[in-house]
Amino acid sequence: MTEALARAVVLDGNALARTLREKLRAEAAEIHPAPGLRVLLVGENPASLSYVTSKTKAAIEAGIRAETLRLPADMSPERLLAEVARANGDLEVDGILIQLPLPAGHSSATVLDSVDPLKDVDGFHPENVGRLHQGRPRFVPCTPAGILELLQTHAIPTSGRRAVVLGRSDIVGKPIAALLTARDATVTICHSKTRDLAAVCREADILIAAIGRPGFVTREFVKPGAAVIDVGINRLDSLNLDAAPEGLRRSQRIRAALEQKGKILVGDVDFDDVAAVAGWLTPVPGGIGPLTVAKLLENTLMAARLRRI
Ligand code: NDP
Repeated sequence: MTEALARAVVLDGNALARTLREKLRAEAAEIHPAPGLRVLLVGENPASLSYVTSKTKAAIEAGIRAETLRLPADMSPERLLAEVARANGDLEVDGILIQLPLPAGHSSATVLDSVDPLKDVDGFHPENVGRLHQGRPRFVPCTPAGILELLQTHAIPTSGRRAVVLGRSDIVGKPIAALLTARDATVTICHSKTRDLAAVCREADILIAAIGRPGFVTREFVKPGAAVIDVGINRLDSLNLDAAPEGLRRSQRIRAALEQKGKILVGDVDFDDVAAVAGWLTPVPGGIGPLTVAKLLENTLMAARLRRI
């Protein structure tokens, strides 16, 4: 391990996710009948397939009846809406997850709008989004919920702190900004049109990177001692390594991993570089990803309880 790697405290999402999943397994055992989750996967996107597999595996291990409905990429939008309606009406289904992105030709907004808000375990239905922004959340989107859990577990304060969120997606950027605001942080949201990006990010006590650009965030973006949460999941192989930022291309660790495995996952943060200045840092993989899965299970249990009242 280099001296740089020893600096930041590495926030272990795997360990926390394991603890959460154990707790949820015990809670699920108390719910009768067992909670049910239906995942709708449209098309053959390999990344989506791998996410869905890990989510349903984790759900089953936690005692949730999880099933994946695999649907053809060329299905009509009407048929997909009919499948959502069927899941809405199915008494055995407590939680519905529409795996994104949907293939071209489908409107994800229309499909997400059609999910019963009481079964919307991803928290993407406008009713749940509205509740979140009004400070009375029902289902909190899983990735932002995982980020909060990690901050809280490591006693990383938010009240009065400056937070910068890099990325303004509906899935990560906007909801985590709302949640941090509700926890009394002063939040700035950045995106592709933000000027002086590194300087804005350097003001952050808490920096959340969710842009989908491998190794984009380097030490120039980070205030010494800041908590840096890396949400990005980017696939790197020998073919796209040349297009990656210099830090990743020159990293011995990444080159060795690529030689050994052929392809690897990296975050939006140049881990080795940023570890030299950050106070806390999440790894990829093993940071926010497993917490996202744990929060999906938590939301499914909540959906089951709501429907059994
Ligand atoms: P989106 O593609 O929906 O949004 C990306 C955001 O980043 C946009 O707001 C975009 O700006 C901004 N952005 C892109 N490039 C730049 C740039 N060069 N400078 C500044 N801002 C930029 O991404 P998601 O939020 O869905 O996902 C982000 C990353 O997080 C991905 O790698 C994804 O795989 C990962 N992810 C990980 C999860 C997990 O469980 N760990 C869960 C969900 C996502 P603009 O709006 O101006 O276009």
